[in-house]
Parts: sequence; C-alpha cells; structure tokens
Amino acid sequence: MSLRGRTAVITGGASGIGLAISRRLAKEGASVAVFDLDYAAAERLATQLQAEGCPALAVQVDVSDRRQVDAAVAQVRAKLGPIHVLVNCAGIEAFEPFQSITEASWDRIMAVNLKGTFNCAQAMVSDMIAARWGRIINISSSSAQSGAPRMTHYAASKGAVISFTKALALELGRSGITVNTIPPGSIDTPMLRRAAAAGHLGGAGVEQIAAAMPVGRAGTPEDIAAACAFLASEEAGYITGQILGVNGGRYM
Ligand code: NAP
Repeated sequence: MSLRGRTAVITGGASGIGLAISRRLAKEGASVAVFDLDYAAAERLATQLQAEGCPALAVQVDVSDRRQVDAAVAQVRAKLGPIHVLVNCAGIEAFEPFQSITEASWDRIMAVNLKGTFNCAQAMVSDMIAARWGRIINISSSSAQSGAPRMTHYAASKGAVISFTKALALELGRSGITVNTIPPGSIDTPMLRRAAAAGHLGGAGVEQIAAAMPVGRAGTPEDIAAACAFLASEEAGYITGQILGVNGGRYM
C-alpha cells in the first residue's frame, strides 16, 4: 500500500483519529501535512515524523475559515509539493437537546464539520486534477447513519458530509480522483473520553460502551487509520462514492 511520492494533508491531524491517520500515511511513505487548530500538538507530531525520516509539516489552521485554508495550502505546496491525498478529519461535536440548540451552536458545527470539508476539498482539488490522480477521504460519523439523540446538528452535519462525498465522487470520477467516506463508530479518542466524562453518553464510560459493541471493544484510532490508508492507496482506485463503516458492528 505504498504512498511513496504522495503528499497528504490530514485535517484535525494532531489528535485522536487524525493523529493515527497522519502516522499511518507517513508510515506508508507519504509526506504529511498536519492541519490543526492545536499548533503545539501538530508541531510535536511533525517533529516526531521528521525524526523518523518522513517529510512533515505542521500548520495551524481553522478549517472553517477559507482564507486560513488557502494560506495553509500555499505553505504545503511550497514545502512539500502538490497535494495528492486529503483526509478531512477535523470535527467537533456537541450534545444539546434539540430545543436548546442555539443558532451559534448550529452554525459552528456546520462551519467546522461541513464547510471545513468543502473548504479543504475545493482548495486542494486543482492539484489532484492536474496530476490526474487524487484521494479525498471524509471522516463522517455512524451517528449520521443511525441518528443520535441530542446531536441533531452534529448528525445533520455528518449526514451532509456523506452526501457531499457521493456528489463529489460523481463529479471527479473521470479526473482520476476517488472520494470516499469513513463513518467511525465509538473510537477511543480524547473526543470520546470528554463526552463520557461529561456524562453525555447516558452515564456510560468508555469501558461500558466497548462492552456494548457487537465486537466487544471500542474502536482504536488505528482501526480508522488502516481503512484510510487502504482508501488512499493505488489498490483502492476502483472504489469511489462509498461509505466504509468502521464501527465494530455498531451500525449495519
Ligand atoms: P479529537 O480527538 O477531538 O480530534 C479532533 C482534532 O481536530 C483536534 O486536534 C482539534 O483541535 C481539531 N479541530 C477541531 N476543530 C478544528 C478546526 N476548526 N480546524 C482545524 N482543526 C480542528 O476528535 P476525534 O475523536 O479524533 O475525531 C476526529 C473526527 O472523527 C471528527 O470529525 C469526529 O467527528 C469524527 N468521529 C469521531 C468518533 C469517535 O468516537 N471518536 C466517532 C465518529 C466520528 P482542538 O483539540 O484544538 O479543538
């Protein structure tokens, strides 16, 4: 599954699922640009990857802000070259009863999860079109497939990411670019731990959530990274517009 010679951008690449994806794509030989709000964490990771021999770059960027995205993309092109692989993983969640959701909360979730995905894909796709080769992988959520109480904004944003994936896959198919989405189930990351600690998961801790999964465990960030590395590979060239659930059987 070599990604040697490819440049990959991973948004939200400094924590949880994104961090595992950054590491895995680097291991497969890609040059890696870590886009994250948390610059210190992104810089730590980029320094580790460089020490392991992988060309890597950390960029502080809020994916919801198109000007920041464009500036970040210019940095990647200057330091690592044209972009071949984009993983849209930056995301935020909130747990709020439907009637309590404010316009600001709705807008922020949409801005990061949905508009951020649009911003990054649109800012980078010209490189892929020029190369007649590209991979866009959008991290959505099994909450969009199953529904999730007190998460109408989050589930709607991730459902829109799934629809966005299919529409873009149709549009880019003849340009040699595949577009797919991975909706994770419950993955043991800082995001899941924060939700459990705040009592948002019905009082369940990560261990109880794990026990309730058909496979009897919570997912790991590496479970998502493995699927992502496959979708980014040459071998996955005939797979586009697909939803690859990596969820331990949580949703079928
Ligand atoms: P995480 O540990 O919170 O990591 C998310 C990373 O994205 C953080 O480094 C965060 O920075 C960054 N980020 C947030 N907003 C951003 C923005 N506007 N621009 C750039 N970076 C931003 O979360 P995770 O659990 O790995 O989740 C990764 C993705 O998987 C998300 O899209 C999430 O919705 C999805 N997902 C996760 C699960 C799960 O069970 N964990 C399940 C389904 C879907 P800060 O820390 O500075 O905010």
